[in-house]
Formats: sequence, structure tokens, C-alpha cells
Amino acid sequence: MAGPLNTLALLGATGSIGGSTLDVVARHPDRFRIGALSAHSRVDELLALCARFRPDAAVITDPAGYGALRDGLQALGLPTRAMAGPAALDEVAADPANDIVVAAIVGAAGMASTLAAARAGKRLLLANKESVVLAGDLLMQAVREGGATLLPVDSEHNAIYQCLPADGQRGGVRRLLLTASGGPFRGRRREDLADITPDQACAHPNWVMGRKISVDSATLMNKGLEVIEARHLFGLPASQIEVVVHPQSVIHSLVDYVDGSVLAQLGNPDMRTALAYGLAWPERIDSGVAPLDLTELARFDFEPPDRAAFPCLDLAYRALEAGGSAPAVLNAANEIAVSAFLQGQLGFLGIPDLIRACLDAHPGGPAGDLDQLMQTDADTRRAAESLLPRMRKP
Ligand code: NAD
Ligand code: MG
Repeated sequence: MAGPLNTLALLGATGSIGGSTLDVVARHPDRFRIGALSAHSRVDELLALCARFRPDAAVITDPAGYGALRDGLQALGLPTRAMAGPAALDEVAADPANDIVVAAIVGAAGMASTLAAARAGKRLLLANKESVVLAGDLLMQAVREGGATLLPVDSEHNAIYQCLPADGQRGGVRRLLLTASGGPFRGRRREDLADITPDQACAHPNWVMGRKISVDSATLMNKGLEVIEARHLFGLPASQIEVVVHPQSVIHSLVDYVDGSVLAQLGNPDMRTALAYGLAWPERIDSGVAPLDLTELARFDFEPPDRAAFPCLDLAYRALEAGGSAPAVLNAANEIAVSAFLQGQLGFLGIPDLIRACLDAHPGGPAGDLDQLMQTDADTRRAAESLLPRMRKP
């Protein structure tokens, strides 16, 4: 039996998560249609997706692309409405015509539209973890007040969501265990990491992802951001959230209960599983992911994270424990550090150094409202830029 017809706003359509989402959507034309697609600056890619999925609206967030988008849509003979600028994201995220919003923009740039979808009570498929790190309390409040259904897409959080009781009870939970692949440099010592290049850092052993999250995976900051994400999504303190390295990336995360039961969610490392789960929830649909072959895999390995070689993990715990605006500082400093690393302006070991310097310089304080958090974000970006010349070069 076919389920309901859902209309999606896919924010960040030209990215890695965007592509995986469209792959699942294309398998189920009777269940999903595309209401809106967004891209930051690649007009040609956005136009190609519009020709294929015929959305009602297309957003190019860099306003310089507006003319090319409008003319391109017209040349294709599409009825799609051309929109531009960051505010257009909020508009399509809250549009009553769209009932599912996929938040797949990278970085704090996804904050406002994620919040808009939460406030408008959407089914929110959340990949944009930076918005939870930046403003987790505000986002969860908006989800509650807006009556939104937040379904985590990050594979670890999707796994935990599937393993937790559906009624929201947390009483019997001892710990959440987030698995980490360890990234491409697992097993290396800190002193061996000085000369890492952007391409080496982006060559992840198990997942193909955008460049920012690939670098985050190589520094283990991705796991640090995920610990903060888990704290907000599942309402458990940092002391109940642990990280274990599992190089095969097949066990996507686990929930440890007080009676000794440990529930895990497994699957091939492919984001389409988490996306299909969110798109069809509470039903299950085909995602295109191959069935898991356990005998082919043969073994699962586990080890503790190397906190000395990869200090970003502890920096994230430090920011989470400090609370208030500290996670916003962590996130902004990391975005600047990763971007500088990718542009060849900062060495790999300079990434944690720059983040630590920003946390050290931050006086601390309450998170405040969204305006205050965005101010902290902007102030930290400026501070990080000015510290850059003093940091290790590649
Ligand atoms: P990506 O770099 O492949 O794609 C990013 C998308 O965001 C693109 O569509 C781009 O046009 C858009 N974008 C970039 N900057 C923008 C800006 N300033 N304003 C508006 N739009 C902008 O990234 P990705 O790997 O798809 O990751 C997207 C998000 O999902 C990130 O938050 C990431 O941490 C999270 N995530 C990704 C994966 C994965 O497997 N790729 C897994 C878990 C979580
Ligand atoms: Mg993840």
C-alpha cells in the first residue's frame, strides 16, 4: 500500500547529504515530491536538479546567482520559482506547502532555516549538526513549541533514536555509546600529523562526505560535535555520553541500559539508510542500500579514542561542560580553522590550537537568545581570523 504523498524542502540539495536524499526520493515517486531545492552558489548544478525533480521553488543563497537561476529556469521551461538570499531558505523551510524539511546545509549557515522549520512544526530531518551545537537549547525549545518532529539523520543519532524507547523515557538508560571510525589517521601519533594535506584529510576510509565534515572526522571534532548534538537531542548529560572507536563503521551507535542490555543499530555505511528512515518514519522503505553481509565483514573491532593525538574531542567535552555560549565558540572557531586548513593557511595540528585559543579567550556566559548566539558566532569568527597568523602553518 502506498503511504501519503509528502512534499520536501531540501536545503543543501547540491551536497553529499542532498544527493543521498534525492537518490532515496527518486526511488519512491509515489510517496515524495520536491517542493523546494537550495544550493549556495552552484547555479548549474541546481538547474540540473530542477530539470530532474521539477520543484515549486529553487533557492540560490548567494544572491549573485539569482539572474542565472531565473533565466536558466525559464530556458528550461520550468514553472519553478527562482528565489535568492539566505532569507529565502527560512521562507521555504516554513512554507505550509512543504511538510518535510531536510536540513542538509553545512555549518552555522543552516541555523536560521533549521530553526524556521522547527518553529513551523515540520517533520525535520536534521543533518546540519552545527545548528544543534550552536543553539541546541533554542532549537529543542522551537521543536517543542512548534510541534515539529525532529528525526536525526546523523548516522550515530539516527541509530540511537532507533534504539531508545519511542515514548521518550530515559530512566533505564545507562549510557549512549557513539561509535567513531577514527578517521583516516587512526593509529598515528600526534607528531606524525603535522604535514597532513587537505586531500589526505578528506580521504575518509568508510564514508564519502563534504569536505568540512571530512576534516572534522579526521580531527575527531566531528565526534565532539556529535557528543554535543546527542546531549541536546536525547536530553542526557555529558557524563552519560561516551565515544568508542569502531573502524568498520557498521555499528552506527549503541544504547546501554541499566539491566545490562545493549541495543545497537547496524548497517552498511551509507547515509541513505538514515535518510529513508526519516523520510518514511514510522514506516520503512527501500533506501537502495545493500543488505549487510556479516560473514563477509567477519569481524568488528573496538578501541578507545586517542585523546592525545586528537585533542578536538576533549575540546568539545570542555565546551559542553562549560555550557552557555561555549559550544557556539567551539563551533565558530572550528569552522574558521577547517576553512583555513582547506585553503592551505593553517596546518592540521593548528586546528585544535586555534579552537583552544578561542575557548581560552572566551569569558563564558549564558547562551542567551538567537541574536546573542549569532553575535558570539560572529565575534568568535573575527577573533579566530585575527589569531590565524600566529598559528602553525602547513
Ligand atoms: P556538502 O559540503 O557536501 O554540502 C553542503 C550543502 O550546503 C551544499 O548544498 C551547499 O550548496 C550548501 N551550502 C554551503 N554553504 C552554504 C551557505 N553559506 N549557505 C547556504 N547553503 C550553503 O556537505 P555534506 O557532507 O552534505 O554535509 C551537510 C551537513 O550534514 C553538515 O552539517 C554535515 O555535518 C552533516 N552530515 C553529513 C554527513 C555526510 O555523510 N555527508 C553525515 C552526517 C552529517
Ligand atoms: Mg555522524
